[in-house]
Amino acid sequence: MTDTIFGKIIRREIPADIVYEDDLALAFKDVNPQAPTHILVIPKKPIPCLSESGQEDQALMGHLLMTVKKVAAQANLSNGYRVVINNGKDGGQSVDHLHLHILGDRAMNWPPG
Ligand code: 5GP
Repeated sequence: MTDTIFGKIIRREIPADIVYEDDLALAFKDVNPQAPTHILVIPKKPIPCLSESGQEDQALMGHLLMTVKKVAAQANLSNGYRVVINNGKDGGQSVDHLHLHILGDRAMNWPPG
């Protein structure tokens, strides 16, 4: 699998504002925030995108969602928040390492752009 900027963040080769880490996941602040709170949750396993995850990743995917819940609580997003996974070109994905966006501390619009 190809390496990405997020692989470098996992290996601490480039800096990031890391807010949570465990054996399977890492969460850090987005460098170009689209909301007052914008955090990315990623698996340490370099899965390129949601559509390329496999059956063997089922438990990990559940872990990532529970990590989102934990990180959002830690960030005091008690008014709610949005969770986004951009998948592939039309999904607007720009980094080929699966990531879940947590956006909060402002009201979100619907439909999204
Ligand atoms: P995507 O568009 O792939 O769903 O989201 C990728 C996100 O990664 C973007 O919101 C972008 O701002 C963020 N990002 C890209 N490079 C870096 C980086 O080097 N550090 C951090 N913290 N975020 C990054």
